[in-house]
Amino acid sequence: METRKIQKIGVFTSGGDAPGMNAAIRAVVRACIHYDIKPVGIYRGYDGLIAGDIEELSSRSVSNIIQRGGTILKSARSMEFKTPEGRKTAFENIQKFGIDALVAIGGDGTFRGAQIFSAEYNIPVVGIPGTIDNDLNGTDFTIGYDTAVNTAASAIDKIRDTASSHNRLFFIEVMGRHSGQIALRSSIAAGAEATLIPEIPMNVEELVNLLEHGAGRKKSSSLVVVAEGGKPGHSIDLAREVNERFNHYDTKVTILGHLLRGGSPTVADRVLASRMGVVAVESLLNNKSGVMIGIVNNQVNFTPFDHATTNVDNFDSEMLRIAGILSV
Ligand code: ADP
Repeated sequence: METRKIQKIGVFTSGGDAPGMNAAIRAVVRACIHYDIKPVGIYRGYDGLIAGDIEELSSRSVSNIIQRGGTILKSARSMEFKTPEGRKTAFENIQKFGIDALVAIGGDGTFRGAQIFSAEYNIPVVGIPGTIDNDLNGTDFTIGYDTAVNTAASAIDKIRDTASSHNRLFFIEVMGRHSGQIALRSSIAAGAEATLIPEIPMNVEELVNLLEHGAGRKKSSSLVVVAEGGKPGHSIDLAREVNERFNHYDTKVTILGHLLRGGSPTVADRVLASRMGVVAVESLLNNKSGVMIGIVNNQVNFTPFDHATTNVDNFDSEMLRIAGILSV
């Protein structure tokens, strides 16, 4: 790829928002200033790139945001960017605003778009994984995952209080499109009785047996954490089915949904985002492109976009084993 000196870097957040995206934006902007590069913010992801919704950022534009959830640059899902015409307009704006390279903060969809765009128009792009789902190859954790898990665990703790007071069986549904990682980790942290995840499906019969076992051991309540698994609300049907065969407890359902996307990011997410933001700028200056930044075993790692997003397999069966041992 022909390289030219990078003088202006554009940063944007795209797809599903995640707590810690602001910390990543701040780190990109401040690293740019450190290396004497002009940072520009692109609003609403690829939609803003197409609309030219772009402005210069300063060190002060990112003051007081490291602790805030959401994203000051807003986020969007852009249908137009999936078309060659949309990407052509996006590139015209890149030229118009004199942007030499991009930092894309988002999930797998964002990186698929970045890969296509970077190849079509020879523009350097690096990615920062910002998604609560932790569903990318090439990083131990994505930004937002730790916060989402903490939010889920503290919500499950609160539900436990009411569940034990009334001898109830609660189904608690948490986000996670194709991944049970939020469900499994929050379930272990909050001591739930069972976890249902898309990676290792459990049928109603098995679940009922498990709950019977717990009831036999005189548990005052039972909590089942259910991963949404691309079917939001499916825990309602599941609870009904289970209730027909198991009626030791009054049965209730709580769907945590978008609650998990909000809130102040945890220290782990703030530090991860800060580190990745600096590395993103430095890697562009070292002529990297088409890669997602990750941290694996506390070391910086670069993964080509197509590998980061394809056949993602970071399910930790050891965690399921631990959850099983501890839920008796
Ligand atoms: P996430 O990044 O959180 O996975 P999405 O899957 O919605 O979120 O992707 C974010 C955006 O990335 C999409 O709205 C679209 O604009 C862009 N995108 C995703 N896939 C492609 C693709 N194959 N070609 C071009 N752009 C894409």
